[in-house]
Amino acid sequence: MDTQSVFIVDNYIGGSWTPPASGKRVPSLNPARHGETVGEVPVSGIDDLNRAVAAADEARRAWNMLTGAQRGAFLFKAADLLENRIEEIGRTMTREMGKTIGEAKGETARGAAILRYYAGEGMRKTGDVIPSTDADALMFTTRVPLGVVGVISPWNFPVAIPVWKMAPALIYGNAVVWKPATETAVTASLVMQCFHDAGFPAGTVNMVVGSGAVVGQGIAEHPGIHGITFTGSNGVGKRVGQAALARGAKYQLEMGGKNPIIVAADADLELAAEAAVSGGLRSTGQKCTATSRAIVVSEVYDAFKEKLLAKVSNLVVGDGLDAKTWLGPCANENQYDTVMNFIRKGKEEGAVLLVGGERPDDPALREGFYVTPAVFEGVTPEMSIAREEIFGPVLALIEVRDLKEAIAAANDTEFGLSASLYTRNIGNALTFIKESEAGLVRVNAETAGVELQAPFGGMKQSSSHSREQGTAAIEFYTSVKTVFVKP
Ligand code: NAD
Repeated sequence: MDTQSVFIVDNYIGGSWTPPASGKRVPSLNPARHGETVGEVPVSGIDDLNRAVAAADEARRAWNMLTGAQRGAFLFKAADLLENRIEEIGRTMTREMGKTIGEAKGETARGAAILRYYAGEGMRKTGDVIPSTDADALMFTTRVPLGVVGVISPWNFPVAIPVWKMAPALIYGNAVVWKPATETAVTASLVMQCFHDAGFPAGTVNMVVGSGAVVGQGIAEHPGIHGITFTGSNGVGKRVGQAALARGAKYQLEMGGKNPIIVAADADLELAAEAAVSGGLRSTGQKCTATSRAIVVSEVYDAFKEKLLAKVSNLVVGDGLDAKTWLGPCANENQYDTVMNFIRKGKEEGAVLLVGGERPDDPALREGFYVTPAVFEGVTPEMSIAREEIFGPVLALIEVRDLKEAIAAANDTEFGLSASLYTRNIGNALTFIKESEAGLVRVNAETAGVELQAPFGGMKQSSSHSREQGTAAIEFYTSVKTVFVKP
């Protein structure tokens, strides 16, 4: 049992920790023991947001006057601080949203790597020279920041996602106003403290904690915010996009997934089963890239199912702080209820629950939002568990005749984030790469897994068709200026 004291979180505005104008806070609870309060986090309003936007607006020009290398130096410092505090940040993340301590520390280390990657981007080229038809002229492109960028982030990756948005925003000369998910606002405040201690000039980066309906919507509608980057659910993302579009702001949305793994007749079944478990159930299935459908060719269906069930039955469910735990609780009560509803619907709609999908028997786990990892079979395309994002430890097995049918089933979804194929046949792999309707296509690798130096984003309803991370980020966080100069 962790007996740390309760964190009292403030907003971070204009370089200072500032209580919310309302004076109100709500508890952030440990999903492994719902009686345990990790912190008390602000209930902010539009006044707080306005102050943060004003601070960012005041800071942004001086910040943009610095060289990329100078801005990068702040990012390098923040990276070192995040890394030095990996134990505290990792433990807080686990206590606040349930993922295992290994995953939480891994995510924090990833945050440091992202900051270093973008610190280096401050020294790289930002334009091209284009031959002019005028012999006397020099024509080139350069890039300028958007101004103030609003960052709206979810609870499932409370360090990596905001850092992969804030780091490029800052390196390209923008100031930031960040609204983290309330559920993980304590972890967010520890990230913000690293930025503060790295010495970022006051106002370049701000954090306002509050509800999505007030502070999130406020960011989408705020005339002082020039670009909005959002990661979260589809329903909310669409509203954010519409509000941004209505006032002509730039926006970027990364949203849900219904990611398939295809197991071909010539797959290495051991590896494929391992990938379905790891991709589908790590982080309690709460990754946007989590596998939720295993589409298996008939010839190997029974053999694959046997391997999968053997692995799933051995997974240890428990408190993420316990070193033995492989699968922590759902991140909050709402998420737990959603997962349980999908399991009930799956049964009602005629799918067969092969294993899991229950509260664990262990009395030590009675106080947490735990669900044992579930595998359904007999899942048909029209069922809710085949179509909707569950965001929990639930895998749907779908049997198909051949690879052609498998690819059609994989694409039979409104989402298009990640898709994976297990095969030993290069021809199968090439067909899948060409035909898969997903932004991340992975062969002999699980659906989850993102490399920070490569573009990340979805097709179809999974994104607004822009890409984050790697060198793709510059496209969102800057505008191109074409410059024409004559002597
Ligand atoms: P969510 O949409 O409920 O919340 C995301 C953020 O939006 C939170 O900060 C929330 O407070 C805010 N918000 C809520 N209502 C708002 C409104 N009306 N206006 C503006 N902001 C508002 O999502 P969640 O439950 O926190 O996260 C889970 C979802 O995120 C899943 O759908 C998952 O697939 C998705 N996700 C996508 C990616 C990706 O990169 N594609 C990565 C991680 C998570």
